[in-house]
Amino acid sequence: MNQKDQEGVFVIQHEHWIGGSAREPQSGSRLVRLSPADGRELASVAMGDAADVDAAVRAARQGFDSGAWRNLSGSQRGAALNRLADIIDARFDDISSVESEECGKPIAAARADIRYGLDVFRYAASLASNISGRLMADSSPDGMGIVLHQPRGVVGLIVPWNYPVVCLVHKLAYALAAGCSTVIKPSEFTPGSTLLIARYAQEAGIPDGQINVVIGDGARVGESLTSHPLVDMISFTGSTRVGAVIAEKCARTFKHYSLELGGKGATIVFEDADLDVAVEGAFAGFTVNAGQECCAGSRVLVQKSIAARFIEKLSERCKTARIGPLPDEKTELGPLIHEQHLKGVTDYIAKGKAEGATLAAGGNRVTAGAMRTGLYIEPTLFTDVTLDMSIYREEIFGPVACVVEFDTFDDAIAVANETRYGLANAVWTSSIDTAMSALRRLDSGVVWVNTTLQLIPQMPFGGMKDSGIGRENGLEGLQEFLQTKSAFVKLRS
Ligand code: NDP
Repeated sequence: MNQKDQEGVFVIQHEHWIGGSAREPQSGSRLVRLSPADGRELASVAMGDAADVDAAVRAARQGFDSGAWRNLSGSQRGAALNRLADIIDARFDDISSVESEECGKPIAAARADIRYGLDVFRYAASLASNISGRLMADSSPDGMGIVLHQPRGVVGLIVPWNYPVVCLVHKLAYALAAGCSTVIKPSEFTPGSTLLIARYAQEAGIPDGQINVVIGDGARVGESLTSHPLVDMISFTGSTRVGAVIAEKCARTFKHYSLELGGKGATIVFEDADLDVAVEGAFAGFTVNAGQECCAGSRVLVQKSIAARFIEKLSERCKTARIGPLPDEKTELGPLIHEQHLKGVTDYIAKGKAEGATLAAGGNRVTAGAMRTGLYIEPTLFTDVTLDMSIYREEIFGPVACVVEFDTFDDAIAVANETRYGLANAVWTSSIDTAMSALRRLDSGVVWVNTTLQLIPQMPFGGMKDSGIGRENGLEGLQEFLQTKSAFVKLRS
């Protein structure tokens, strides 16, 4: 990543990163990335194709086969991951501002993402030296069985634009801890933080060829990576629609895959919840990252006895949301990622009105002052929503929530589970019994109680139903990047 002076304006040049150095796209194709916050030119981005992917995969293959990384001891790999975390920490402000500008994240949110990324690298570093197997010392009279876990090989990591660092570290930290070599495809809208991490990894002493980055769109770079015969596994985060395409492609070339996909989470507020705390949680649940959040609690289910008061308070909270400049520490909502996505979200708002839902708050694009040329939208709350409405069923991926009222605990669980998705749900209650029963009966990979959107590296993350296959983070996340080998050793006596 270097910067070019264009008539006094600094524009970042993003190139691929292959075999330890920056590479221009072989086709010469580039994209101009505009700032979501104000529309100015932010970066000129290399757009890759099959030839760039092939070069990156071959660099990764060579890196893996050389043993320069995989044959280090687990504690040596762990030490390098800790050095990488230290370097990211030392450049914390640089990488946070790149993440903020490219994604349109308020600076406080971008910093929180990088801080979380550091935690993940450090946790994965601790796992690297703890990869163990099993010995069956006396299960047979004439020998011993051994089960060992080895790195899968070359892995393709496909990452979306909404959480470039968070989604990346959920894959990269564990792939490296396991001893794999990687080819990363970031979104062409947000490659900056990924490229910085690849450079920092070189400084940390992670051998060239272990981390390769090819920027580009899904149709060219994503598909070439998924179909490449020298790639052993794909770890994908993105939409359910593309996840299904990737699973089919991987099946044809016998690749292992893990898929982190879409969601339509429920925020379930019971009558015994602390109302003000639940209102704040429900608000955060669908407005964090301007609602561009796979775990968003965009279906707000509230018990009838408290519904009127809750809706009034949540609508008020939407109206006082701090929308605005990314560098302001107090900003809560930044802009949406690009113009086409903004149109998709506003189309859903129009559809919600046409379907008969009532707009309790928001619904408009924000164009005041400096936001005139940005892609901002108000937090938007619909009431009088029925379960067949598209705003209730489909993932909108913007700051839009639907309120639905329920009578009993059983109703709440049934409504929450009535979706094709199963990523994350949040429950607000002061009853331990309600909380424990709900977490047992909700069909989702993650359940939060009296909090929302809280991740820790030790906690496996992933979805049920159409929200995905496999897990990231935790011991399970590491296991995705390992394959199991069994050996039997015959003994003479
Ligand atoms: P997409 O599925 O459109 O894209 C995700 C990534 O896949 C992008 O890098 C994209 O490239 C690439 N891609 C697109 N088509 C293909 C293909 N045919 N083969 C290989 N790669 C391809 O999702 P979005 O980027 O729009 O991200 C939003 C989605 O991601 C939401 O559904 C959200 O819920 C989900 N998500 C899930 C998370 C989870 O952990 N479960 C976390 C974050 C997001 P390009 O865009 O450049 O074309």
